[in-house]
Amino acid sequence: MRRDRNTKIIATLGPASSNPDAIRRLFKAGADVFRINMSHTSGPALKDLVSMIRSVELELKTTIGILADLQGPKIRIGEMAKTVTLEEGATVVLDRSSEPGDASRIPLPHPEVFDAITRQSTLLINDGKVRLHVQEADEERIECIVDVGGEISSRKGVNLPDVVIPISALTSKDREDLEAALNEQVDWIALSFVQRAQDIIDTKELVAGRVGVLAKIEKPAALNDLDNILAAADAIMVARGDLGVELPLELVPGKQMQIVRSARKHGKPVVIATQMLESMIESPVPTRAEVSDVAKAVFDGADAVMLSAESAVGKYAKEAVATMNRIAIAIEGEEAYRGIIDAQHHEPEATTADAITAAASQVAHTISATCIACYTTTGSTALRAARERPDRPILVLTPSLATARRLAFVWGVTRILTEDAKGANDLVNRACGQAKKIGFAKVDDRIVITAGLPVGTPGTTNLLRIARVHERH
Ligand code: PGA
Ligand code: MN
Repeated sequence: MRRDRNTKIIATLGPASSNPDAIRRLFKAGADVFRINMSHTSGPALKDLVSMIRSVELELKTTIGILADLQGPKIRIGEMAKTVTLEEGATVVLDRSSEPGDASRIPLPHPEVFDAITRQSTLLINDGKVRLHVQEADEERIECIVDVGGEISSRKGVNLPDVVIPISALTSKDREDLEAALNEQVDWIALSFVQRAQDIIDTKELVAGRVGVLAKIEKPAALNDLDNILAAADAIMVARGDLGVELPLELVPGKQMQIVRSARKHGKPVVIATQMLESMIESPVPTRAEVSDVAKAVFDGADAVMLSAESAVGKYAKEAVATMNRIAIAIEGEEAYRGIIDAQHHEPEATTADAITAAASQVAHTISATCIACYTTTGSTALRAARERPDRPILVLTPSLATARRLAFVWGVTRILTEDAKGANDLVNRACGQAKKIGFAKVDDRIVITAGLPVGTPGTTNLLRIARVHERH
């Protein structure tokens, strides 16, 4: 499946979209990767969703990425009997009982919070919308005064910006969800509330290459270890929801810029997430500000933009995907786009793969080749090719279904599954044939090919070819 844009789209599945018809519609509207939020998904439900996505994939003869987003040490309130409104100045108690909550008491099923919290601590509920401060706390109950009121419903998130909670990056729930995700052969897992590179290193040891590991940056602490996190992780997400609760909102755009730039320098895919088209949960058209926000991510050269509630519970899930698709295409067609992308170009590192992919990008530009065909087994050459942010499509040719799926949210790449070439001639013929078939080249166009000889040895990208597409291809 060919998309006419570099920027990829991730759509979160939820009640509004957890059926094969909706998944097919979202894919056709432009979703390249589906995110399954393990905060709201059981093991059996994950299995069902994965099988729905895989059947759509098979039906449409394409490859789709699946990202299982682990909840991480996210603190949430328990069940509420119904949605309640907390009024400013009111007293509310958080306790350890599992009884459904009401406007006077809210269950908080996290014993570690009761130990760590102190008088005057701030407690934010529902993405910071409701603000409480602690009046009195012991091991059983936390009595709070409501500073900023608002609605509270079951399992809303809690942020404690000024309290250090001694919990590890992978909770026991995360470990179970990770096991389930590995069993279902998802392509990526996202690690929430990463605080340091070691969180990633520990998880990568556990998954042993079976899945890509994406680090969600949503804690201020992670920003202090960003370079090491980028070195350790396979991809990164600017998780603006929680980041914007834990940091003053006006600091988030600058941090987003810093994270995208660093990720591009490292050649690690970067996702911009949360509230990109928030008003489309209820409205068929976005606000101007939301359109500008998506446009900003596209101009910055982010790999992917993500929908959360818009596609999970929104009334206009398909329209939200289609809107992102249109914005990405329009912005990438702007005259200013190429110059802005190139301004953040980074020199190749001193490796064969970087030398070849950087040269491929330059050669393609110089001779007006219509695409860069890139043979890769593990996907690592494709990532280096994408790091160049070339001004023409990257056609990734891989024999590995797992690699094709895993690259689904990488900037500028179109993936085709194909057997390994049977030698130098076959390598050229195959690339020309595929480029022609997908519409990246016509007869007489030239394409640039990168590959490794001998064929089929991972990690040997050492060849750059210019080839002309012929009738026979
Ligand atoms: P979440 O992560 O949707 O799992 O909270 C994204 C964010 O915090 O922005
Ligand atoms: Mn979050």
